[in-house]
Amino acid sequence: MKMHVATVHQNASFDAIFDTHPETSLDLSHVEAVLKKGYKKPFLIVDRALIRNKFRRFRAAMPRVHPHYAVKANPDPRVLTALIEEGSGFEIASIAELDLLLSLGVPVADIFYSNPIKSRAYVEYAAAKGVEWYVLDSVEELRKIVSIKPDAKLYLRIDTPNIGSDWPLAGKFGSHLADVKEIISEAVKLKADLAGVTFHVGSQCRNPQNWRVGIERAKGVFTDMEQSGLKPRLLNIGGGYPVRHTKPIPSIEIIAEIINAAIEDLSPEIHIMAEPGRYLVSDSAYFVCQVVGTATRNGKRWMYWDAGIFGGIIEVSEGLRYEIVTDRKGKKIPWTVAGPTCDSVDILMRDELLPEDLQEGDFIYIPNAGAYTTAYASNFNGFPLPDVIVI
Ligand SMILES: *Cc1c(COP(=O)(O)O)cnc(C)c1O
Repeated sequence: MKMHVATVHQNASFDAIFDTHPETSLDLSHVEAVLKKGYKKPFLIVDRALIRNKFRRFRAAMPRVHPHYAVKANPDPRVLTALIEEGSGFEIASIAELDLLLSLGVPVADIFYSNPIKSRAYVEYAAAKGVEWYVLDSVEELRKIVSIKPDAKLYLRIDTPNIGSDWPLAGKFGSHLADVKEIISEAVKLKADLAGVTFHVGSQCRNPQNWRVGIERAKGVFTDMEQSGLKPRLLNIGGGYPVRHTKPIPSIEIIAEIINAAIEDLSPEIHIMAEPGRYLVSDSAYFVCQVVGTATRNGKRWMYWDAGIFGGIIEVSEGLRYEIVTDRKGKKIPWTVAGPTCDSVDILMRDELLPEDLQEGDFIYIPNAGAYTTAYASNFNGFPLPDVIVI
């Protein structure tokens, strides 16, 4: 298997601190081999060997932390199968994700229900299928789960800082310190097995200290739990491990140093898990699409691709900047790039520096696009879903 080392950025001292490990990407030659057979519509090409390597690298960096892949990042069954073969556990948000994993033979004990607010019907279904562990971050959700499954094993999602994450989740989920005491005392009253703590530092988190702060807060909650007579035995340090796009990232080894130091004094009775999504699948894949037209509008150059916000390239709308690779060598000029639909939100980037000679029929190659692309794509406006090709 051929791999190339992604460009190392060398312009700031920040980079010297964070660019400590060469990150890998799928080699473009695999894309070229697929295109030789023709092109019909946008596609993602995924190399499962790279996913396996990322899984092993994660395990090697944090031997005490068991990874449970976040299915939503890329739920392709062939991707899931590679992770099952590597010994991964899983984290789900819905019963469709549960059914998919069960159909692939995943033992139900390896599946954690990590969506803090679940419908009653979904909890009933998961309980009937044998799911043991459920997250919560409110008194109401605690009562809901216990009313359906009194012996559920429960973990509490706490709020942590999301500073330095490209997708700050703070505010949507996670109980604050002021609410934790009430949840613990309600669990004691209900004789519920509240046995764990979790947090999520936010996706594409480039500040490793957030994990340290989360773990310190979790330890505080463990102490509160023990003082109330509960028996904590799970620490779930969530997802958020970053991958390289255009900005420098801390390597998993640097993040692991901080996490390993923070968990060192935890009792061996505490099982420690994580929920990496993006980290495991992103750089295993190229997303490929095509320029369908160009235009000049009021002196500005525009180009339109056959995949946009609705076709899978949606994370740009939340601030992610992809590297864009093309076959053209012309001088770089500012382009505004849009998707093929007629919706005004379907604009991918403005004033992006791309070769001036790009034109109809040219291919666009987006490296490290294996996470949160095809999983988001819709048929809006009648455009087809991207293919997923697995090698
Ligand atoms: C989405 C999600 C993850 C995975 O996040 P990444 O940033 O892709 O690592 C992990 N845990 C939970 C609860 C999530 O919702």
